Amino acid sequence: MITDEPLLFEITSPGQTAASLPKSDVPAVDREKAIPKALLADEPPPLPEIGETDLVRHYTALAHRLFSIDQQFYPLGSCTMKYNPRVNERAAALSGCSDLHPYQRDEDAQGLLEMLYRLSTDLAEIAGLAEVTLQPAAGAHGEMTGLLIINAYHRDHGHRRAKVLTPDTAHGTNPATCVMCGNTLVTVRSLPDGRVDLDDLRSKVDGDTSALMITDPNTCGKFDDQIGVIADILHAAGAQMYLDGANMNAVLGVTRPGDFGIDVMHYNPHKTFGTPHGCGGPGSGPVAVAEHLRPFLPTPVVMRRDDGTYGWNHDRPKSIGKVRSFYGQIGVLVRAYAYIRSLGHDGLRNVAEKSVLAANYVAARIKDRYPMPYPGPYAHEFITVPEFDRLGIREVDFAKRLLDYNIHPPTMSWPIHHCLMIEPTETESKRTLDAFCDALLAIADEAQTDPETVRSAPHTMPVGRLDEVAANRKPVVTWHSE
Ligand SMILES: *Cc1c(COP(=O)(O)O)cnc(C)c1O
Repeated sequence: MITDEPLLFEITSPGQTAASLPKSDVPAVDREKAIPKALLADEPPPLPEIGETDLVRHYTALAHRLFSIDQQFYPLGSCTMKYNPRVNERAAALSGCSDLHPYQRDEDAQGLLEMLYRLSTDLAEIAGLAEVTLQPAAGAHGEMTGLLIINAYHRDHGHRRAKVLTPDTAHGTNPATCVMCGNTLVTVRSLPDGRVDLDDLRSKVDGDTSALMITDPNTCGKFDDQIGVIADILHAAGAQMYLDGANMNAVLGVTRPGDFGIDVMHYNPHKTFGTPHGCGGPGSGPVAVAEHLRPFLPTPVVMRRDDGTYGWNHDRPKSIGKVRSFYGQIGVLVRAYAYIRSLGHDGLRNVAEKSVLAANYVAARIKDRYPMPYPGPYAHEFITVPEFDRLGIREVDFAKRLLDYNIHPPTMSWPIHHCLMIEPTETESKRTLDAFCDALLAIADEAQTDPETVRSAPHTMPVGRLDEVAANRKPVVTWHSE
């Protein structure tokens, strides 16, 4: 039995309904007159009929089976599943933010425009770069926008440069972006300590190199302290530096990408500045650029006019054009603004320091039992490869067993084989971090003394091990009464 909660179709009871609609106040039309006969179904669809109480209980029962950041610790590396302050939700729900129509006249949306303008200047300041577009709808979309800007810049200087370099530790979206933008992907090796191999980099940079896409701190949890040298190598060849800013959490207010040689970067506000973003959304991907790339930003760009009012500037003849309908993921941007403003400069720096401290604390507590392929100290996340292969226990077994300890699993099997990637975030208390370390240490003991319990976990969840491949390849999306 997968779950004891019945399907809605199993509790259907003809005549029951959760809706009570007012009487129609428009004349009824014969459906056969309104819709061509060929388009009409022979019978109404077999939808479940259920009263409000049963309906509410059904969905509430299902919702309580979920893991969520409001209920459990979520150390999901590379995702920054931090606690999302309620005040951000309140700001995003204000009617001046949530009830505006995208076609509202600028004069009637001055408050929101001012907020977007202030957010874009804050993001430029945090990046140490000149100007920001708020349009892109997610981090990956920001990458695409950034690379289109870089390609437009090279074209404007009279040459098309094909090659885009990424370190072999790059997030999968980096090579994907490169291919989508029509560039040729060249992979740069990393050293055993996770930093870029400078010799390999030098051998691959030439006059056809458009850019390096780099994540720093990188996906191994290391801040590559050679970043200034790397930027010099790229710039000497006329190429651009693109920063995947998904890991800005670890450096906010401590250092600025523009100060270490970055020309373009994207933010993931839903990670760095807090927005609930499980299950793939919603996100946002503002892109910040250096002075020489401003002419290529997507239009329109939010601006402050000389008379102190706000509006949209469409006047950028070299712009790459729009990358999204309207102006961006406003709800996520309002949350980011609330987060940045409620913390201020010192608060943002504190985010970085606490997130780094939390990761290094966890690493230090478990290091005797959980080997780490890259040496510390770490940024805001780190990688461990549990060595229990000889007991037939792999990373997935640790992940599943953590569920029995009421903890969401870390990221698994990426960016290196058989690893767990742990990102505690700055929002967790020492008590929570200790409970997590205790659980990991207990599981390491169990792996020795009772490997079968670990191999067959979870034991306390509504479902056990799912065949995830079959669920993806052969999804069952219809319900048959027979
Ligand atoms: C999350 C992430 C991305 C992609 O961002 P989305 O908003 O999910 O599109 C890119 N790079 C890194 C390093 C990330 O962690």
